[in-house]
Amino acid sequence: MTGPETPAYLTHPHFAAVPWLVHGFGTREGSPDDFGRNKKKAWPGFDVVELRQTHSDVLHFIEDVPARRLQGDALATDRRGILLVIRTADCLPVLLADEKRNVVAAVHAGWRGTSRGILARVVRELGERYGSSPASLAAVLGPCIGPACYEVGEDVRTNFREAGRGEDAAIFRTPEVRRLGAACKYLLDLRAANRLQLAAEGVRPGAVFDIPLCTHCDGRLLSYRRDRDTTARLYNFIGIRPSLV
Ligand SMILES: [Zn+2]
Repeated sequence: MTGPETPAYLTHPHFAAVPWLVHGFGTREGSPDDFGRNKKKAWPGFDVVELRQTHSDVLHFIEDVPARRLQGDALATDRRGILLVIRTADCLPVLLADEKRNVVAAVHAGWRGTSRGILARVVRELGERYGSSPASLAAVLGPCIGPACYEVGEDVRTNFREAGRGEDAAIFRTPEVRRLGAACKYLLDLRAANRLQLAAEGVRPGAVFDIPLCTHCDGRLLSYRRDRDTTARLYNFIGIRPSLV
């Protein structure tokens, strides 16, 4: 479904109930014009921070708005009035909040970042930097390409195995029907792979939430695999409100 009934940004009730947070997962109705460094109109009181995303496992801690776009795939802050933005089209966006210490993070987890363990690294580094306990973290996994749609080759599986992420059974499935001549060897479950990383780092399963939409199936979203002719991206964000409400 598309049209005016589609919101520009989806929210999850768990984070929507936290008074000091703002967050959203973009749909195709969202606009890049809502972001960019000088777009204070869309998000009053906020400075927007975006990355040059490279499918790495690099996290940046933001205390002030950087002069240039930083290179990396995760952002975290404990400062008010900073909007952390991650762009996706099939990759998994993950938003995290430490509800005790008022810390937020946004993570871009495609297959490369997932294989590198970016989400596990973010949980560990939030602990080192802010003293955030995994037990006080909540995470929302946004829309991404679903396990029924994400065909990958042997190279991807090998990459995971070489990275020491051996949980193959939960992450990779062999398609039931292998089409003759198709290169597809496996179906990759990005959401499951990242849930495993959170659990391994001690984040409580009851504090991990999903917006379980498939970007490839759902026409309200954008998919790199489906929409190859576009460079448009979904805008996902989280921030601490500039002032207490
Ligand atoms: Zn799908």
